[in-house]
Amino acid sequence: MISIDSVSSLQESLHHQGVRLIAVSKTKTAEEILQVYHSGIRDFGENKVQEMREKYEKLPRDIRWHMIGHLQSNKVKYIAPFVHLIHSVDSLKLLTEINRQAAKHQRVIDYLLQLYIAKEETKFGLSEEEIVALLNSAEWKVLNNVRLRGLMAMATNTDDTHQIEREFSVAQQFFHKLKKQFDQESAQVKFTELSMGMSSDYTIALKYGTTLVRIGSLIFGARDYLK
Ligand SMILES: *Cc1c(COP(=O)(O)O)cnc(C)c1O
Repeated sequence: MISIDSVSSLQESLHHQGVRLIAVSKTKTAEEILQVYHSGIRDFGENKVQEMREKYEKLPRDIRWHMIGHLQSNKVKYIAPFVHLIHSVDSLKLLTEINRQAAKHQRVIDYLLQLYIAKEETKFGLSEEEIVALLNSAEWKVLNNVRLRGLMAMATNTDDTHQIEREFSVAQQFFHKLKKQFDQESAQVKFTELSMGMSSDYTIALKYGTTLVRIGSLIFGARDYLK
């Protein structure tokens, strides 16, 4: 199921394009993750706090754990000691709690703001206006234990590639606009990352400047949620 050669050649080809491969390992076992780890991958993505925490405890310490799923404020404490990058920040309340937990552990936690681009009610994220308002708020300016690294966005789950292109293009343009406006503003911003693209649409995301692709089923095979 997992071909080590194909995972490492995918990583290699993305690396040449300046893109980091995050292997999305949700629902997969520690053993399956280790196989992919041994092919040289060090970035893994999870969408549930408890699952990430359990895998963190079992697996090698040089893994960089990415939180890619919707995160509740009351669960931040379980991942604050070790999480590498939180992709899914969608409120000031959540960010304030991440900052508080990071301070407890004397860390600065990197995060992305999740931009809502899809035509689907089920997806989380902030509008462009909400992001601009957040970044201009007095509350945001005093969060010294978090660092804004860029944006995350998920396209609509559709076969219409033109629609996916339009959505990724919107995210790319907004990314550049924010970068111009907010990068270098303070130590709390280092705006370099655009997290877009999953198994079905990462080749499109590459055309629109993604720097982090989040790939699950293409690496691990289909997920079985009944296990
Ligand atoms: C599950 C998931 C992915 C990976 O999806 P695949 O289709 O398996 O590649 C990427 N991003 C997020 C936010 C996810 O929840």
